[in-house]
Amino acid sequence: MTARILVVDDIPANVRLLEVRLLAEYFEVLTANNGPDAIETCENGKVDVVLLDVMMPGMDGFEVCKRLKGDPATSHIPVVMITALDQVSDRVRGLEAGADDFLTKPVNDLQLMTRVKSLVRLKSLTDELRLRASTTRNIGIEELLSRDFATDDVKPKVLLIDERRSSVERIQKMLRHSAELDVATDPNAGFFQAAETPYECVLISTAFSGFDALRLCSQLRSLDRTRFLPIMLLADEGEEGRILRGLELGINDYLIRPIDQHELTARLRTQVRRKRYNDQLRASVAQTIEMAVIDGLTGLHNRRYLDSHLQTLFDRAAARRRPLSVMITDLDRFKSINDTYGHDGGDDVLREFARRLRKNVRGIDLACRFGGEEFVVVMPDTDGAIAEKVAERIRAEIAQAPFAIGSDGKTIEVTVSVGVSSLLKGTDSVAALMKRADLALYEAKSGGRNRVVAKAA
Ligand code: GH3
Ligand code: MG
Ligand code: MG
Repeated sequence: MTARILVVDDIPANVRLLEVRLLAEYFEVLTANNGPDAIETCENGKVDVVLLDVMMPGMDGFEVCKRLKGDPATSHIPVVMITALDQVSDRVRGLEAGADDFLTKPVNDLQLMTRVKSLVRLKSLTDELRLRASTTRNIGIEELLSRDFATDDVKPKVLLIDERRSSVERIQKMLRHSAELDVATDPNAGFFQAAETPYECVLISTAFSGFDALRLCSQLRSLDRTRFLPIMLLADEGEEGRILRGLELGINDYLIRPIDQHELTARLRTQVRRKRYNDQLRASVAQTIEMAVIDGLTGLHNRRYLDSHLQTLFDRAAARRRPLSVMITDLDRFKSINDTYGHDGGDDVLREFARRLRKNVRGIDLACRFGGEEFVVVMPDTDGAIAEKVAERIRAEIAQAPFAIGSDGKTIEVTVSVGVSSLLKGTDSVAALMKRADLALYEAKSGGRNRVVAKAA
């Protein structure tokens, strides 16, 4: 895993110490010895994780962290604070500044590597989502990223899986104001509950008699529905080995008993915030992908989708020696509809046309808006004779009943011309198939419109 780590510390010897260890693990290392330099490096370079000393003259680590997390250009970069003392108050301050994790000086090697690796993994996921989301200009990605999590006020839904009654009661009390907490005392029941309910974080105790909590963690990680659910382990002193194995399995964070209320709420907030951020990104990517292949006016697939799938359908049919047909439809005298009823009236006709078209083709047929008032339907497993019948049925369906325009009950007669072509045995191509359908359509138009012409060859 190659990633770029920025080490920030005002004491050169400290920088050097971390640099050597990271280089030994083949990380790329950047360094800065004050806050402003660190911020500038993050703004300019491709930094994957920041290791940030808390105590620095001038701008201290808390302030640096706050600024990085407050700027949409750098807020997604994970920050690990390095504190001199294992002071809970420092940790809480750091978490409030938005830090993703902590390490205490002297830095434990194994902890350093595990933490850095798990954050790098998380960062690469976020990067991929950001990249995909920002590839289309349609989506206001910057707006999305700069949105100051308004959802922060919404109490997160959290599941606690813990069989010890006293521990459950303590945690319930601690999270009374900051989470909507459900409890499962049986680990197997807890697993199903986590899979069925949209929790934003799950807290898992390591203290089960006769059950390995890490098994539960790995099960949650392997299930699709819980893959992105943050997991926090509640461990006991002396369980470092187990925690490290948990981190390797993909748990997101841990707390060691006795649990401090401030640290619990702050760490929980960090996990929930990160999950909400990634969920938003994921949703915008899904929406972007959908917008890229769906025509907004009619809800049918668009030309881009047709272009990328027609070849596949064609190849499949040719390889299996199965028939394949396409039809191109073009509304008759559509320009005059626009001229008479306006563009909005024209749009109403297009929507209704698409509805009738969809109603008359099978689920496996690919119906697309090819552009303007032209539509294409690709029909797998359909020979020319059947395709011609389907085309005729659509033509009749359009001519048979007038189209409603606007909301005041106005209607108009609409007709459509259709060209049909089918896959030929021997040498044929997508371009030739489309060309034949286009020629057929042209014949339908010149033959008087409101008709179907099929090209056998
Ligand atoms: P023909 O019978 O020969 O097909 O005549 P036509 O008027 O339908 O032919 P033409 O292809 O010249 O005109 C198509 C018109 O479709 C031109 C354009 O203004 C209109 N059009 C294209 N896209 C849209 C759209 O999204 N909405 C609306 N309302 N009109 C559109
Ligand atoms: Mg046209
Ligand atoms: Mg037309």
